[in-house]
Amino acid sequence: MNTRDLPAPPPSTPALPLSLSDLVVERVGFGIFVLDRDMNVLMWNRFMQDHSGVAAADVIGRPVFERFADLPRAWLTRKVESVFQLGSFAFSSWEQRPYLFRFDHDRPITGGVDYMQQDCTFMPLMREREVIAVCVTVSDVTHVSVMQREREDAVARLREYADRDGLTGIANRRFFEGRLADEFARWQRYGGEMSMLLFDLDHFKKINDEFGHVAGDTVLRAMAQRVAQVVRKQDVFGRFGGEEFALLLPCTPLDDALHVAEKIRRTIGDAPVEVQGVVVPVTASVGAAAARPGAPDYEVMINEADAALYRAKHQGRNRCVALVHELS
Ligand code: GH3
Ligand code: MG
Ligand code: MG
Repeated sequence: MNTRDLPAPPPSTPALPLSLSDLVVERVGFGIFVLDRDMNVLMWNRFMQDHSGVAAADVIGRPVFERFADLPRAWLTRKVESVFQLGSFAFSSWEQRPYLFRFDHDRPITGGVDYMQQDCTFMPLMREREVIAVCVTVSDVTHVSVMQREREDAVARLREYADRDGLTGIANRRFFEGRLADEFARWQRYGGEMSMLLFDLDHFKKINDEFGHVAGDTVLRAMAQRVAQVVRKQDVFGRFGGEEFALLLPCTPLDDALHVAEKIRRTIGDAPVEVQGVVVPVTASVGAAAARPGAPDYEVMINEADAALYRAKHQGRNRCVALVHELS
């Protein structure tokens, strides 16, 4: 049996034949080892031998750190000492500490999991109300951690899809409005400046009619990509509807927003889009508005940007207009 100096079983222990309990400990599908208060190994089952490559005879009677120098020494000593002091169980989950021993896992390619993920239990072995040793069990929970990681990845991907517009890949309106609501609440609480732009491609119906709907889609994708490249990271750019886009500019006064508007107008209009060898000229009109103190909600700013956009269209298109608030 792979033990040393194991205390004799207390008289109340059921009379299991020793060889049978030995067999169970040897055959179970998880690691079992026992430590004394000086961190010497008293027992080491087959699972531990098979996965560590260290035979029981080579570790029993020695400090566990002698053969396993990469163990988290301070953490493990503290954990074992606390079981000696309190006489109660302690646990460690793979979610807090992915593994205690650096064992290989037997799974094929598993994204992100380098070693066998382990849950550990620290069990006080008592005699006459005194802890005489601590039994540690090591369970292989790699499959659980892999499943959880896969689930988290899937949820992240779904969230990503839910926030993006299918045609252009930029934020969709739902995501844009969510961010707008957050930024507006922050602005209401802390003050400062905040603006937004709404822009709409000019005579887009004509583009569809002349070049076809597929070419229209290509133009929309190209424009979204162009604009995405010139906006700042902290701004929120989204597709607001058909061929209408929105750009939220936190911490930006209206004057600066107008400069951004002009940059976007030029980004869109300065070079035509080439679709399957056909040159398609595109321009856009841009409306700008700023968050207005006293406005009850962010929709006021959207409406004002929309009104500015309407004026830009009315004044001949391919231009930027800011809505300077006229009401008292
Ligand atoms: P203007 O804005 O300059 O006043 O004229 P417009 O022709 O762009 O005006 P309007 O907003 O009335 O038309 C927008 C057109 O955009 C109508 C619609 O068929 C087209 N459109 C909307 N969404 C898509 C889309 O996803 N793909 C394509 N190809 N066309 C779209
Ligand atoms: Mg349009
Ligand atoms: Mg439109």
